[in-house]
Amino acid sequence: MSRIELRNVHKRYGNVAVLHDINLTIEPGEFCVFIGPSGCGKSTLLRLIAGLEEISSGELHIDGRMVNDLPPAQRNVAMVFQSYALYPHMSVYENMAFGLRHQKLASGEIDSRVQAAAKSLHLEGLLERKPKALSGGQRQRVAIGRAIVRNPKVFLFDEPLSNLDAALRIQTRVEIARLHRDLGSVSMVYVTHDQVEAMTLADKIVLLRPDTAAKGLPSVAQVGHPLELYHHPRNLFVAGFIGSPSMNFLQGQVLSCTSNRVRVRLAGGQEVLADAVAPQLHADEPVTVGVRPEHVQLGQGAGRGVVSHLEHLGETTQVYLQVPGQQALLLAKGGSPSLKLGDTVPFELPAQHVHVFRADGDALRRPAQPHDVQHGTPARIACA
Ligand code: ADP
Repeated sequence: MSRIELRNVHKRYGNVAVLHDINLTIEPGEFCVFIGPSGCGKSTLLRLIAGLEEISSGELHIDGRMVNDLPPAQRNVAMVFQSYALYPHMSVYENMAFGLRHQKLASGEIDSRVQAAAKSLHLEGLLERKPKALSGGQRQRVAIGRAIVRNPKVFLFDEPLSNLDAALRIQTRVEIARLHRDLGSVSMVYVTHDQVEAMTLADKIVLLRPDTAAKGLPSVAQVGHPLELYHHPRNLFVAGFIGSPSMNFLQGQVLSCTSNRVRVRLAGGQEVLADAVAPQLHADEPVTVGVRPEHVQLGQGAGRGVVSHLEHLGETTQVYLQVPGQQALLLAKGGSPSLKLGDTVPFELPAQHVHVFRADGDALRRPAQPHDVQHGTPARIACA
């Protein structure tokens, strides 16, 4: 069981600040996913935990012990890289056994650990093969096996599925989730830029944003259960990043507020209601209204949009609407396959699915949602 704590962690390369004021706790046994745009520092943060990079300032604790100066080999963590990094001249068995031989473990112990890892990763029939005779997915399983045999307290994964094709990614993702369940108390920290991986694997998502030091903002934009970030994004950055396709944003001005509702007039004239907890907004205040494509209801309501693009995905039709007064197109999922370009379509934005963001980007607090997670980190949402 390992708790990882980062306290006021900063990372600079020369004058360039990459990570700014990271405060984060990863609980024992948790599956924690770092996600964010390319270059925001996800891999760097993982490498700081691994000990492959030095922390510029701040403290890293594993199991209550400060490990800033502890070499990687003594941190009891195992890292799995995107590139597999297998020894090409060694068999699968030898690749997995190599680190243990280096530690001078007895050969019986090495054999039982390698066999157990091979069984859990379905590699039993491949132990004599060389890496070049394996598929990408099998190679990545060997790389994971090499980490498992060390019995680490923490697994660190750096984009482990990036080199796999779409089908293998899904298969290996499911295997990693199963592995996490089987290993129980072992914490996993996982870097990805893939939304679906983050949403499906994580107990906790850590969303990082780039270029924060100059603005004095912490690099972590929000931490929480995947559904918490989906239903209760704290700000425009989180709202725009989590969810695929992305949330629609529409510009407008506040008309009025009650204790649990905001009425907004969108540029273009349409009025929209949003559920919000104790909204404290001034009349005429400029706001951004957010609604996810899956929540736009087509075929009803007072809104009107002109179809400017259609995407037929089989299970659904995605409809891009030009809405009067709005620069960005409004994307809706679930359009009728019979729609045509140029059609005018009524639409509604249901109040319980409408997010409101103030001019500084902070979200208004939303009421609890039916699918909110009742356990784990409580929602920490900036309220106006
Ligand atoms: P991510 O994993 O989110 O794509 P990285 O952690 O790889 O981002 O990199 C974060 C930033 O740090 C990038 O701008 C990258 O160019 C910079 N960076 C990473 N490693 C070094 C290094 N050794 N020297 C200087 N800059 C680096």
